[in-house]
Amino acid sequence: MSPNSFDPTRIRLSPGELRGRVIAITGPTAGIGNALALECARYGAEVLLLGRNVKKLETVHDAILALQAHDGGAIAAPAIAPLDLEKAVAQDFDTIARAAQERWGRLDGLVLNAALLGQPMPIEEYDMPTWVRVMHVNVTANVALTQTLLPLLRASNDASIVCTSSAVGRKGRAYWGAYAVSKFALEGFMQVLADELEKSTVRVNSLNPGKARTQMRRQAYPSEDINTLPNPATLTPPFVALLGPQARGVTGCAFDAQPASSSSSSTGT
Ligand code: NDP
Repeated sequence: MSPNSFDPTRIRLSPGELRGRVIAITGPTAGIGNALALECARYGAEVLLLGRNVKKLETVHDAILALQAHDGGAIAAPAIAPLDLEKAVAQDFDTIARAAQERWGRLDGLVLNAALLGQPMPIEEYDMPTWVRVMHVNVTANVALTQTLLPLLRASNDASIVCTSSAVGRKGRAYWGAYAVSKFALEGFMQVLADELEKSTVRVNSLNPGKARTQMRRQAYPSEDINTLPNPATLTPPFVALLGPQARGVTGCAFDAQPASSSSSSTGT
């Protein structure tokens, strides 16, 4: 399939789609990242869980081990690495890279999923300390993490970086403040890095999951009936498709996990 016609929502995934791949995911302790971590494990990946709360990481770790017990060993045990994107310094990123180097010598996937919503607020009134926090977690820390892990991704013969985007990071919308601007920046990062890595074995794309039944969505739309929204587990196949071998050669592209009518307009996150 040519990169131009690749649509991650239309890929038929095989049961072993991610077998043999090592995939790092930020924010695997809730929402979309949690659903994705379990799904990557189900599709055969060895998952590196990067999160700020060790107890929650252990819960995800145990959930994957439970899948493993159920599936008779076809599922690989995950690894855990504590990482608070707000507080991490260079040494913390290096520690993760060193541990991954020692354990696997490479990484085949990196999903930049963890994010902060900040406050829905007009730019004129936006609280600057919150702005800095959101931009740091959603952009700068992702760039630093990617930069540190890049040698490991380059060591793979088919690596994929997926930047988790948003409808408001592709078309600006009033009151979405730092969150929207941070997602625009992540899209820009994706394009710059994809161009720089064009001749390498590392591809870089963005994926907007669209609205999903998660804590972030609840925070953005407190009066909405969250039960009417898609379960995050239903939105993971396009992520898996981008991480797997069928997306080889596809880079620098912005994708949507749901049709535009259900993921953007006035209801995006
Ligand atoms: P949730 O709020 O449900 O989960 C966010 C995850 O990010 C949690 O695991 C959280 O960890 C982690 N996280 C937050 N701050 C940090 C930090 N400082 N360091 C490390 N991890 C951190 O979000 P969603 O699942 O809804 O969103 C996932 C992605 O999808 C985000 O990038 C979001 O922008 C995007 N998205 C979501 C949409 C939606 O409708 N839900 C729509 C469009 C895009 P902890 O568990 O410790 O809190």
